[in-house]
Amino acid sequence: SAAVEAVRGLTPGPDGDEVQLICHVNPDGDALGSMLGFALALRTLGITRLRATFPGDFELPTPYQDLPGTDLLVPEEGAYRAPQLVMTFDVAAESRLGDLAALLRAPCVVVLDHHASNTRFGQVNLVAPRAAATSVVVEALLSRLDVPLDAAIAECLYVALATDTGSFKFDMTTPQVHELAARLIATGLSPGDISRRIFDTRPFDAMKLSGDVLERAQLDPEAAAGKGMVWTYATQADLARHHQRPYVLDTLIDPIRSVAEADVAVVIKEAPDGSWAVSLRSKGAVDVSQVAVALGGGGHRLAAGFTGHGTPAEVAATVKALLDAHLI
Ligand code: 5GP
Ligand code: MN
Ligand code: MN
Repeated sequence: SAAVEAVRGLTPGPDGDEVQLICHVNPDGDALGSMLGFALALRTLGITRLRATFPGDFELPTPYQDLPGTDLLVPEEGAYRAPQLVMTFDVAAESRLGDLAALLRAPCVVVLDHHASNTRFGQVNLVAPRAAATSVVVEALLSRLDVPLDAAIAECLYVALATDTGSFKFDMTTPQVHELAARLIATGLSPGDISRRIFDTRPFDAMKLSGDVLERAQLDPEAAAGKGMVWTYATQADLARHHQRPYVLDTLIDPIRSVAEADVAVVIKEAPDGSWAVSLRSKGAVDVSQVAVALGGGGHRLAAGFTGHGTPAEVAATVKALLDAHLI
């Protein structure tokens, strides 16, 4: 395929081609795991002029700080400015790249992703909307490149797969997903250790913050699919009061979406600029990616997001209005 040729065509070594890997803003396990797993694989192919970067502040969520390959990460300012090849991981649209979108002017841009809403902004677009994670696409490319999975690459891809499948709970957890997980674990990984580190470890203050945010959740019993919408919000002041970084809010959608009376769950998270990063989840009857796309965002049928404006109640009302409209 064109992606295989783009990688095979690279000149390796210290005087070789510059390769810049990038993933989406506020990187999650799939974005980082897919990107770093591929970076490690490129290194085994002798590609040494290689940088991995994500937009925004150069602060990794604590759970991902020990991922293999983090030595290849550089801050935004350190990205190659005129790379031969740019590869994007888990990036649905240019808008998810912040200032790094300027890198898309490179001679070759390869997009590796699994969002149905992907805008195919590369020259080469490996987008698999039915894949459970971008790491599934990465592994398929690695196998075509004949790069064997070592334990470090496997750990990155496993974290990505486990993150995007909700620890192998979501609908897209197919036999192929478990087969891939089996091959990754067979390199010597400890799924228990990885899960504890990535999903089941947080500071006491983050747990207290979560309590505040859950306490103010509201249930709108008739908003969606004959069932309700449950929503809550978290502000910059909440983060400051509990001395937490924004990524700790990203898992709050999980207890929120467990509410039996609701088909759609919404978490509205204040960004430093006063806008709101909105997470949407559906239990199945509603395609929340349609709601997100209508509001300038994107995502998957059951998990999507967008940037909102106004008060949290106004953002929630906007979502509810769209749900009402779609379901008539
Ligand atoms: P999360 O709620 O976990 O941040 O995101 C859920 C899904 O929606 C992810 O697949 C993510 O890529 C997508 N998503 C979240 N926010 C945005 C956004 O502002 N724009 C786009 N295009 N996709 C988003
Ligand atoms: Mn992601
Ligand atoms: Mn993903």
